[in-house]
Amino acid sequence: MAQAFRASAGAASRSGTESAPTPAADRAQPLRMSVLGATGSIGASTLDLAQRHPDRFDVVALTAQSNVEKLAELAILHRAKVAVIGEEARYGALKALLSGTGIRAAAGSAAIEAAAREPADCIMAAIVGAAGLRPTFAAAEQGGRVALANKECLVSAGEIFLRHIGASGAELLPVDSEHSAAFQAIGRTAARSIEKIILTASGGPFRTFDRERLARVTPDEALRHPNWSMGAKVSIDSATLMNKGLELIEAFHLFPVGAHQLEAIVHPQSVVHCLVMLEDGSVMAQMSQPDMRTPIALALSWPERIATPVSRLDLVALKSLSFEAPDHDRFPALKIATEALHRGGSAPAVLNAANEVAVTAFLERRIGFLDIATTVAACLEKAEARGLVNGVDTLDDVLAIDEEARRMARNLLPG
Ligand code: NAD
Ligand code: MG
Repeated sequence: MAQAFRASAGAASRSGTESAPTPAADRAQPLRMSVLGATGSIGASTLDLAQRHPDRFDVVALTAQSNVEKLAELAILHRAKVAVIGEEARYGALKALLSGTGIRAAAGSAAIEAAAREPADCIMAAIVGAAGLRPTFAAAEQGGRVALANKECLVSAGEIFLRHIGASGAELLPVDSEHSAAFQAIGRTAARSIEKIILTASGGPFRTFDRERLARVTPDEALRHPNWSMGAKVSIDSATLMNKGLELIEAFHLFPVGAHQLEAIVHPQSVVHCLVMLEDGSVMAQMSQPDMRTPIALALSWPERIATPVSRLDLVALKSLSFEAPDHDRFPALKIATEALHRGGSAPAVLNAANEVAVTAFLERRIGFLDIATTVAACLEKAEARGLVNGVDTLDDVLAIDEEARRMARNLLPG
């Protein structure tokens, strides 16, 4: 096991001790895999890999929130045992679509959690937002591998989630490309030898825009990411750079470094995903095309590797890789998130909840692009003034803070 990977099997907390992992993909026996958030962008990439390696994966449970047709189609294609739709009103439709297939249909959030607890060797946790917290906690309980795409678990409930992972004996593997890169770059390096972890950010579609132009950008423009193809929420977060802020918080929980050892830099080509600087002057990096199937493949197969169809890097064709410092005036979200990381306690949970509300409002054209960061900052200030930024001990504490922060953020929005 990577010695310096904090959140491994048995690493119950930031100071926990690591123990050896269990190999994930044993060729002789297919890996029983469930996908929470199967109809999303990460879900699609995960199932694409499963389809390319039918001998390696047996799909157990697939879940989605509302797209019942797509869920049924995926469940049939992958011969899942159970398919769960979050919206209970769509249960009848799901049952009808699955009739005669032998696939069990269920609906509702409790059913999603139950599906997460179905015995499996690996669960892809790819529900977007704080809505993924309870199902991802449930996924950890059956003690297999949790391939973690849902960054909100670590952002809003980092220590609590890692304690939960440790207590259940589950094994946590990061899916986010930067964290997958850090995991690989750190390898067996001792924690004390790591000086700094630098996450790269593409800079998003508005990297070169001034504030005046940023004030006028539309959701459609913000959804058009130059390098990555992702779900709506993470695409907007990439455009504001909030995504990188959330990822710094994620990295703080995953790796044995202090908040002051984490940095973000802009790298428009999205080829180098993370840089780990070591005490001997070495810089370890991981490179690949910006395609989530590479980090997903690692999370599913580690310590082995599996083939992906991701196009191979051609550095000569690329010619150059460039890097620049993030501009905090034009993209204040990164700084706001960094401050929440340093503040600790429930500040990151407030940050995440306020950001989810603000991003939804932007997507619904109720606020402008620059208002997203303003709303988040105002919500954090209000939460602090009301004494809500405290230590949190349980998932219920986090969910209560999350709800209250959403209420505060909504009250800050116009209309
Ligand atoms: P997405 O919007 O494409 O898909 C989200 C999935 O979650 C869908 O299957 C949807 O049905 C389900 N879902 C939504 N709301 C739900 C609810 N309330 N209850 C249960 N299920 C619900 O999102 P995505 O881009 O695939 O991202 C998933 C997670 O992975 C996010 O946390 C994101 O930050 C993270 N992530 C994504 C990428 C990427 O490239 N897409 C990269 C790194 C990390
Ligand atoms: Mg990322």
